[in-house]
Amino acid sequence: MDINSEKIQQIVAQVLSEMNGAPAAAKSASSGPIPSTSRAAMLTKLEHYDIKEFPIPELGDDDILVKVEGCGVCGTDAHEFKRDPFGLIPVVLGHEGTGEIVKMGKNVKKDSAGKPLSVGDKVVTCMIFKDNPDITMFDLNKQNVGGADVYGLLPDDDIHLNGWFADYMVIRGGSTVFNVSDLDLDSRILIEPCAVLIHAVERAKTTGILRFNSRVVVQGCGPIGLICIAILRTMGVENITAVDGEQKRLDFAKEMGANKTVNFKEHKGIEALAGAVEKSFGGYLADFAFQCTGSPIAHSNIYKFIRNGGGLCELGFFINGGDATINPHFDICSKEITTVGSWVYTLRDYATTFDFLKRAKGIGLPMSKLITHRYPLSQINEAHETNLKMEGLKIAIINE
Ligand SMILES: [Zn+2]
Repeated sequence: MDINSEKIQQIVAQVLSEMNGAPAAAKSASSGPIPSTSRAAMLTKLEHYDIKEFPIPELGDDDILVKVEGCGVCGTDAHEFKRDPFGLIPVVLGHEGTGEIVKMGKNVKKDSAGKPLSVGDKVVTCMIFKDNPDITMFDLNKQNVGGADVYGLLPDDDIHLNGWFADYMVIRGGSTVFNVSDLDLDSRILIEPCAVLIHAVERAKTTGILRFNSRVVVQGCGPIGLICIAILRTMGVENITAVDGEQKRLDFAKEMGANKTVNFKEHKGIEALAGAVEKSFGGYLADFAFQCTGSPIAHSNIYKFIRNGGGLCELGFFINGGDATINPHFDICSKEITTVGSWVYTLRDYATTFDFLKRAKGIGLPMSKLITHRYPLSQINEAHETNLKMEGLKIAIINE
């Protein structure tokens, strides 16, 4: 498609949407009539979204229509945008979204945690139930949501409004939905990535090693590492050293609650780096470490930061980043290190995350600063290009 026809299509979509009573300046979703169509950003080929216009369907008795307010751009979206590893194209992406209920089927009364739901409430979705009780139970020790479907990663169907990169989304019966009206928009956009860290810290606690007075090292100060520091801080863990190669990120780690930082670029070789971590704790190695990068060498290094009998939570390899070399004798066996892995979250972690976000705000952590770039839906291609350049932290689509 040449640029001209693409532009024209966007303008037509915009005019259509305004004709249908959805002026761009609408403040509250519930003010004004529901239009008959909705824009949705559909990834139609690699590295390209088209803004399409789809009819808003009749709601079933168990369905909910949400007017989207915003949605974070996730690493998973970046993978889909670049390579389509899930084979979903054409697809409406966006799974870190939130919005306001504008219409509900007559059977919808409560959210997945039992809170009442009504038109005007702000909601997020977690996963779509399958018939696997290990996934659907509110039980920490049951399976994580890795095998479940989520809105924003669903194959296209005749409803199309299946992801949060849109003006409206249809939540179908049998999905999880949470009433989060007591959280501001930025907090709601951060729920999904924060749930990943709530889960990781829960996994870490199962080792019995992570305590209030533990010396904790967090390696990697992207959004995941920064949120990890924030959660530790809201738990009362105060002795945190952040490790990264970028001073700007390390400075932000301090704002999020790290007391010391180590820039790995200033230390040649793992011995010197481990020495710097030890020095940051006043001559002690870490009791516990969180590995929050996707770099194999970072995984190999982190064992050297941990004391004998300490613990490690590896959560950086959300996707396969390759093999890492460790020495089983020195790194695990002789030091008796307890290691846990962590990946995505359970339903219960999702509910815990809402309270974490309130505590983080309460103690003045600058969570909103994690969202470094905000784009309207019409600039979704630019948003993904910025995300691929790894310039910011969290990129978000904020609906105008
Ligand atoms: Zn995500």
